[in-house]
Amino acid sequence: MQFKELGIIEPIVKALDQQHYQHPTPIQEQAIPAGIQGRDVLGLAQTGTGKTAAFAVPTLQNLSQGRRTAHPRVIRSLILTPTRELAIQIEDSFEAYGCYLPLKSTVIFGGVGQSSQVKALKAGVDILIATPGRLKDLISQGYISLSQIEIFILDEADRMLDMGFIHDVRQIIKMLPQRKQTMLFSATMPKEIVQIVNQLLVDPVQVKVPPVSSTVGTVQQSVYFVDRSHKTDLLSDLLKQEDYESVLVFTRTKHGADKVVRELVKRRITAQAIHGNKSQNARQGALENFKTKATRVNRYCFPGY
Ligand code: AMP
Repeated sequence: MQFKELGIIEPIVKALDQQHYQHPTPIQEQAIPAGIQGRDVLGLAQTGTGKTAAFAVPTLQNLSQGRRTAHPRVIRSLILTPTRELAIQIEDSFEAYGCYLPLKSTVIFGGVGQSSQVKALKAGVDILIATPGRLKDLISQGYISLSQIEIFILDEADRMLDMGFIHDVRQIIKMLPQRKQTMLFSATMPKEIVQIVNQLLVDPVQVKVPPVSSTVGTVQQSVYFVDRSHKTDLLSDLLKQEDYESVLVFTRTKHGADKVVRELVKRRITAQAIHGNKSQNARQGALENFKTKATRVNRYCFPGY
């Protein structure tokens, strides 16, 4: 299957080509044609399936073919996602897939000052990617109106629930116009999400892909049984013996993540932690160092990350 066969317009096909995407993923094959037709979409899919393009491509296409961009621009599409990292990734995807279209997008999230975000909003945007708290904040300050939304995307709906954002999400939904296209993505369907689906989506096309397997066949897995007092020694021995280029380590607590980083650094192994108590700048700095291999070990703390 080729992207062109899904009915995608040339400027977006060209942009996807530049991303070196050769074929649509299963979720894209199912969701893109329905989305382009303006249908509501209910997607049961998790991160890693290509779901961002599954909603970003129809959004870009429908906005670019809809009524002419107003001047000044008004927000015509809202993408609501639970975490800052996801919001940034989604914005990057919109920029990439929409690089040949005259649409502007921006991203807003909490944990950083609001002034640069307000400046971008004032300059005018067509597509807004947001986390719920900061969005509500900027709406209440009068910087954002949702009255012209044509396409609404609720991403990772079940995680919104897990992270305690569902009340905010319900309030935001109430501010949207009745007539709109909605695409909702969730890996699971707890009853609170089913309720939202029933209220929000009109005759949706359901698309479903099996969860991405958490490991691939080429990944070798090992288990080490070790008592708590020897865990860090074992980890640092492994890191010294094996020729691992980059290593991700997950811990149960934020405190645990910081502690292991201290222990590794003491043993001259470069490591940085990422967790919810770190500032956004510190998190992005750590990710950047990891990507450029300035840091060999990134320690993630699962809860609250
Ligand atoms: P997502 O599930 O949207 O977070 O996407 C997971 C990863 O797959 C991202 O790194 C995307 O850039 C990549 N991706 C999405 N669609 C395709 C495609 N059709 N071909 C190759 N890679 C893709």
